[in-house]
Amino acid sequence: MAIASVNPATGEVLRTFEALHDAAIDAALARSERALRVNRARGFHERGIRMRQTAEILEKRQNELGRLITTEMGKPVKAAVAEVAKCANTCRYYAEHAEGYLADEHVKTEAQETFIRYEPMGTILAVMPWNFPFWQVFRFAAPALMAGNVALLKHASNVPQCALAIEEVFRDAGFADHEFQTLLIGSEQVGRVIADPRVKAVTLTGSEPAGASVASIAAKHIKKAVLELGGSDPFIVMPSASLDDAVATAVKARIVNNGQSCIAAKRFIVHESIADVFEKRFVVAMEALKVGDPLDESTDVGPLATPKIASDIEKQVADSVAAGALLLTGGKRDGNYYTPTVLARIPPDAPAAREETFGPVASLFRVRDVDDAIAVANDTPFGLGASVWTNDRAEADLFIDGIDTGQVFINAMVASDPRVPFGGTKHSGFGRELGAYGIREFVNVKTVWLG
Ligand code: NAP
Repeated sequence: MAIASVNPATGEVLRTFEALHDAAIDAALARSERALRVNRARGFHERGIRMRQTAEILEKRQNELGRLITTEMGKPVKAAVAEVAKCANTCRYYAEHAEGYLADEHVKTEAQETFIRYEPMGTILAVMPWNFPFWQVFRFAAPALMAGNVALLKHASNVPQCALAIEEVFRDAGFADHEFQTLLIGSEQVGRVIADPRVKAVTLTGSEPAGASVASIAAKHIKKAVLELGGSDPFIVMPSASLDDAVATAVKARIVNNGQSCIAAKRFIVHESIADVFEKRFVVAMEALKVGDPLDESTDVGPLATPKIASDIEKQVADSVAAGALLLTGGKRDGNYYTPTVLARIPPDAPAAREETFGPVASLFRVRDVDDAIAVANDTPFGLGASVWTNDRAEADLFIDGIDTGQVFINAMVASDPRVPFGGTKHSGFGRELGAYGIREFVNVKTVWLG
């Protein structure tokens, strides 16, 4: 099977690769076994030197790597360069904090000494999506390698050049014994890798069907899985909020990554007393966005990553309008480009209300009060993030307690940050990445009891 890198802005086929055959996969697994002995034997200091070097290389090459991201998946180049820089920060963060997060924890018991030790699990398979082709990989790999594990990457089939570039960055930084390997394989080959006894766990970031399939194979082989899946994040605006800030952030939160982010705000839930003015200002701001060449630094919204994503979003909007939703602006497709779109009066069963919209399409809802807002926010199969805009602290507490998601941001856009855990509830997945919780996902928590 061929794995192709296609520029979504032009349709040009940049490169194609043959998927690895079984023998090559086996050879990579054998290299991983050897690499594990090497990385495990290193202390945190030695791993930290390499991880800081990884950060240096990423920073030195950020413009070139940013352009590679943009040409493979279409995000505006400014955002692509910033993505590479965020990976560098996260490498440094774990170089500095891994040892503290994984230090022995002493527990008082009747024994002479009792403590908990965190040990690396071994080879971890990461199945990753194309939408943040560097960030998704580094937020797994930096803590996993610092914990002493080794990594195999099965990246999305449309970003093979990013996948190979990441492997090269780690190698050049001194992880030169195959501690991080890219496997150019199709999704149908993933099961065979999970089943291999040399692989100890799997992490997948992607869609619900992919997550369900990978987690069920892992379960069959009694292996741990972490799933970071889709989202339909609510963005709630209450009357006490600063409307200027809420509107500006609402636009940014919807069109981040051309609308293709799991934590992009997708459903805008606005108190009825301010809904008319919010709606007008939001539509004006969405219409003012510059759609075009993602390599142009002034572009706000580039093409969607593949023709399939563009046709999926086109159908979701058409079906929602057919179900009775009102199209306030947008709704036009040109190749892989889709104009920023706003829908209102959306029936509860329409795709724009029920499904994840992976493109620049905003769904507006009006609510009566806090309870109504929480009910609408939770009326989704997903539970990834939520952004709430209010200047009433007591009201903020009601939202913090009432919303069923992995993260709630008050007066701020939902974002991932290496210092705090990231993950979801319900169909958005299970397990956590980042922070102390992220680095402890792929370790054996060993109890030691000295009697
Ligand atoms: P996807 O189709 O599920 O692909 C993700 C990865 O899984 C790719 O590497 C893909 O490989 C692989 N894959 C697909 N089906 C598989 C299967 N049956 N068995 C094993 N592997 C399989 O998702 P996507 O369209 O690339 O990404 C978009 C989705 O990811 C959205 O739902 C988004 O919300 C979610 N996402 C979640 C987070 C988060 O942190 N929660 C972050 C970013 C994105 P191929 O490319 O070869 O098919």
